[in-house]
Amino acid sequence: MDEQGILQDGDRRAQAYVAGIESRRVFPDVEACSALSGFNEDLPEVGISATDTLKLMDELGSPATVASNGPNYFGFVIGASLPAAAAAERLALAWDQCASTQDGSPVADVLEKQAGRWLLDILDLPRDSAVAFGTSATACGLSCLAAARGALLDRLGWDVVNDGVMGAPEIKVIVPASTHVTVRKALQILGFGWARVLKAPVDGQGRIIPDQLPPMDGRTILVLQAGEVNTGEFDPFVELIPRAKAAGAWVHVDGAFGLWARAAPKLRDLTQGIEGADSWTTDGHKWLNTPYDGAMAICRDPQALARVMNSDAAYSTASADAQKNLTLEFSRRARGIPVWAALRTLGRTGVADLVETHHKQAQHIAAALSEAGFDVLNRVVLNQVLVRGTDDAATESILKQVQASGTSWFGGSVWQDRPAFRISLSSFRTRDEHVERLIKLLRRIGPDGSASLETGVE
Ligand SMILES: *Cc1c(COP(=O)(O)O)cnc(C)c1O
Repeated sequence: MDEQGILQDGDRRAQAYVAGIESRRVFPDVEACSALSGFNEDLPEVGISATDTLKLMDELGSPATVASNGPNYFGFVIGASLPAAAAAERLALAWDQCASTQDGSPVADVLEKQAGRWLLDILDLPRDSAVAFGTSATACGLSCLAAARGALLDRLGWDVVNDGVMGAPEIKVIVPASTHVTVRKALQILGFGWARVLKAPVDGQGRIIPDQLPPMDGRTILVLQAGEVNTGEFDPFVELIPRAKAAGAWVHVDGAFGLWARAAPKLRDLTQGIEGADSWTTDGHKWLNTPYDGAMAICRDPQALARVMNSDAAYSTASADAQKNLTLEFSRRARGIPVWAALRTLGRTGVADLVETHHKQAQHIAAALSEAGFDVLNRVVLNQVLVRGTDDAATESILKQVQASGTSWFGGSVWQDRPAFRISLSSFRTRDEHVERLIKLLRRIGPDGSASLETGVE
């Protein structure tokens, strides 16, 4: 088959998959997972045709997917893929641009700069900030924290890029005790050492308690959260950021999903004061519903980010705002393009609707579950509902039954040393009927986890 036929075959299979996404099991059944052993082949000596390869991938692979691109997936904050973003990604794959610099791709350079400007506009962050499109909030957080350390040391007359960290003035890092594990990972990679990082005490909703924040100075990086991973809560920025800035500290905000509250007029107050920070990270692949891997590092001082991330070489020089000089990647695909497509097709009101709808749905679930006797543990300020059954055994049983049901899926967590489950709203495909279906399933199982689902759910 010629190239066009192969691409059409891939597209046809992709379209069929997406067309069936609403009726697919949310988590694959045992048979589909067992059938994956069919991939266990010897490396072919002579290549096998592309059509055969796609056929195998689709026939064995598609049934063993998690339908996180569908409407009934409430795990983590994963988001689906908006049609415009997914299609733009497909076209960009055909372009196969090395989007490192303007030389590598004039169009990628322009589209990512445009996406960056729109992002700063819709999130209402300082308009001169650098926007780097990296693989994940993990990688983008790492970049911002490296910039933070570089900038603080620079102010102290220490050049971390040339002289490294050995013998440098010690930088103190403060995180909320509830910080995301990937912030921990980024700090560890950067050599901060988890045991040396100060964990600020948090309240019952996972927010830093201002009175108990350790002292800060000009050698301090303060990491704050927009969207705590269990409760969806926000640190008290209005109180903490001016205090940190007055002390000379650098403030970084992990807003992997929560930063999008700023784009929703009804939720914007949650982010009040956040614009005073020095750097922010957020994901496209979560709440904006762009495909993986797409995230943003935003840095108020573009030079601070460019200084630590620069990868200019004799054969590859570019401006400080070239993406290869702001992200971890050197060769890279233009991760900003699906973000551009998502923002252009949703518009300001579309993004606001997406976020506000999920908030409303989360509140509705919380109210319905409380009424049915479940223990809702958080205030539901955003898109997360944190729940327990009548006791720990019931919680575990409910979780297991929902995950096995195939009709809805959410994940477990541990909150204040006890098991809980976490219902996240983040797919543009989730309509009220899907929310009702989830509520019906949970009512049926009951807060004590006793009902049997063997007779089916619908
Ligand atoms: C998901 C998440 C991250 C990490 O984001 P990735 O894009 O998966 O690396 C960081 N912080 C919070 C609060 C998150 O929810």
